[in-house]
Amino acid sequence: MDTVGFPLDFSLRMKSLLGEAWPAFAEAHLRPSPTSIRLNPFKKLVQKSEHIPWCEGGYYLEKRPAFTFDPLLHAGAYYVQEASSMFLEQALKQAADLSKSLRVLDACAAPGGKSTHLLSLINNSSLLVSNEVIKTRATILAENICKWGTVNAVVTQNDPEDFSKLTGFFDVVLVDAPCSGEGLFRKDPKAMNEWSDENARLCSLRQQRIINHIWPTLKTNGILIYSTCTYNPKENEENLKPLIQTQKAKSIKLKTEENWSAQENFHEGVWGYQFFPHRAKGEGFFISVLKKMEKEDEVAVRSKKKFQVAPKKLNERLTTWVTQPDTIEFVLYDDLIIALPKESVDDIDFLASNFKAIQKGTAVATIKHDKLIPEHAFALSNELNQENFQAIDLTYDQAIAFLRKESLYLGSEKSGFTLMKFQSVPIGWVNHLGNRINNLYPANWRIRSTT
Ligand code: SAM
Repeated sequence: MDTVGFPLDFSLRMKSLLGEAWPAFAEAHLRPSPTSIRLNPFKKLVQKSEHIPWCEGGYYLEKRPAFTFDPLLHAGAYYVQEASSMFLEQALKQAADLSKSLRVLDACAAPGGKSTHLLSLINNSSLLVSNEVIKTRATILAENICKWGTVNAVVTQNDPEDFSKLTGFFDVVLVDAPCSGEGLFRKDPKAMNEWSDENARLCSLRQQRIINHIWPTLKTNGILIYSTCTYNPKENEENLKPLIQTQKAKSIKLKTEENWSAQENFHEGVWGYQFFPHRAKGEGFFISVLKKMEKEDEVAVRSKKKFQVAPKKLNERLTTWVTQPDTIEFVLYDDLIIALPKESVDDIDFLASNFKAIQKGTAVATIKHDKLIPEHAFALSNELNQENFQAIDLTYDQAIAFLRKESLYLGSEKSGFTLMKFQSVPIGWVNHLGNRINNLYPANWRIRSTT
């Protein structure tokens, strides 16, 4: 170990990789990590702090606030995300045609930083399949996707191997691979204790396995974006080399600007973009983009029509609940009404029949004895027609009480389901019963912390 506490083998490798930049790299680990957020473009928050040059919605904050106590975080108005990893935006914008209707897979998606970013960038006739193999992490992913409020996402909880049958299905696949985490040593010094050469070797094997399973799912000319938060070439370029050498793929060179401080590497046919904490205002991050050159036949989507289309009368009523009814199909899943993007209904039905799809589109309402009980996801939905619902803009203290799922006293409003807002952004529902108010905030999402 040295003064920063780096593992010895890591220091040796990095010294030889960085040469004279090594002292600056080590010194950067003695400074605090910058705090950054990425705004949700659909929720229209205004931010005036320093902008992150490679990401339209990315901003640095001067200090780290108590995010748990910001109602706008719970509303999905922004996502707290490390700045370097927002470089995904450049990879996607430069390599994919975002004006087209795309099928996108985020294969290792929890907790959802890159998935919410992808949802901000793709158009609303595109579909994101956001997958996480670990169950508890998939639940957090679903929560974060729900807060982002777009209708065009499906959250699955599958092993990447399960996707290999979806040959030629996706236009873009992101593999943000589990890795040895060297780039996060500053943010999470405990990660240094878990680091070893042997662990990095195992990570590399796991990454190769993920890439091999995911590769067939990509269409010919489709784009694989591969990223890690590590510096080890064995977990980065080396994993992509076989696809280049066998001419199954072509590596894509990205345009970068001087002030982005990304280091461009060309290593045996692979263009890679590496962020270091001593060069960029962010943590360590690696990203590379490949284009699939190999021919891949597309799997036929056979929809089993698991969803039942909402009956005409119900559909007419729901049409007034959303701002763009022409783009949405309301379907029934037992008692639950879900909004799906019209163009992707068959795809989503097919995915729901073949994968463990834990969240599909946006849950709108549950039918209970002829009544529609609005779902929390719908309060946060960007499709919600706010004019159709009575609403109350809460004070900060009221909003925190609501997010704690405490009882609220809101004066004598009209009875019925009422949208709770904070600074004009919806944060959930209450049912106003005249003499009392039922707080409908999801119990498992409530703020528990007291400090
Ligand atoms: N993309 C996420 C984001 O931006 O918020 C971070 C993803 S993290 C780097 C890698 C993810 O891969 C973790 O959520 C982890 O649970 C998952 N993972 C772990 N082992 C895996 C495996 N064998 N196959 C696929 N994913 C795995």
